[in-house]
Amino acid sequence: MNDKKYLWWHEQTLPELTHFAKEVSDIAILPIGAIEQHGPHSPIGVDAFNAKGMAELIAQKTDVMLLPWVWYGSHPYHHWYMPGTIPLSYDTHIAMLVDIIQGASISGFNKFIILSAHGQVSTTLVAVHKLGLAGHFTLSMHWYDFLRDDKDVLTDYMWHAEEAETSVGLYLYPQYIDMSKADKGGGSALIDKRFIIAPGQMPKPGMMYHFEGTFARPEYKELENGIIGDATKATREKGEKMVTRVVDHVVDIIEDIKQRWPVGTKPPVK
Ligand SMILES: [Zn+2]
Repeated sequence: MNDKKYLWWHEQTLPELTHFAKEVSDIAILPIGAIEQHGPHSPIGVDAFNAKGMAELIAQKTDVMLLPWVWYGSHPYHHWYMPGTIPLSYDTHIAMLVDIIQGASISGFNKFIILSAHGQVSTTLVAVHKLGLAGHFTLSMHWYDFLRDDKDVLTDYMWHAEEAETSVGLYLYPQYIDMSKADKGGGSALIDKRFIIAPGQMPKPGMMYHFEGTFARPEYKELENGIIGDATKATREKGEKMVTRVVDHVVDIIEDIKQRWPVGTKPPVK
């Protein structure tokens, strides 16, 4: 897959890196995941593997530099205290994202995309606005936002370690997925689910995102097998379709940015 010379920041020499930013593309993607348990059938690194895999496919299709991906992520309160999951506190995660983007901008990169394969909007949004105040053009993208109501591929919305995430795993890193251990899982809330936007669901008036309230039950008390949704419905084909759609959407946005703000121009954020 990695036959392209320019792909990962950490594989370049300094002259190669600065040449790329000056002459080829000054857009950099930071893929971010999370260290989070993903049931008995999928590895704990699922979200980081997903972000890394999708970013590589995006970079194969359009010229962008990939910043070293981040394994650790932030977690909403209800993920905390689950064995296997190692959350960064919000302050740590926000500071890390800001430091990485500010550091990368020194090398001549002017446009940044934080590509998340984990539900951590509550920290990426704060990071984006801090970066905006410092004059940096940054987009925060969560992969499931590209697949709203994608019911021709999935039988349900996107939950956790279920049909969607497991399908992507079967496509991107099948060696780490054991479908013989795939199962259905639980998950409930403190208010009726019709008020809550599921990941990948098209919001309707009055619905709230999961980070807009403390209405989720703590997972360490709630989940028996670490799964929310149905992992038995996962297939490689579904994973390929989902990944391809995300990659195509992100490439579309990148091409728009390139057209409006050619290499060497900094969007006037400040
Ligand atoms: Zn996940």
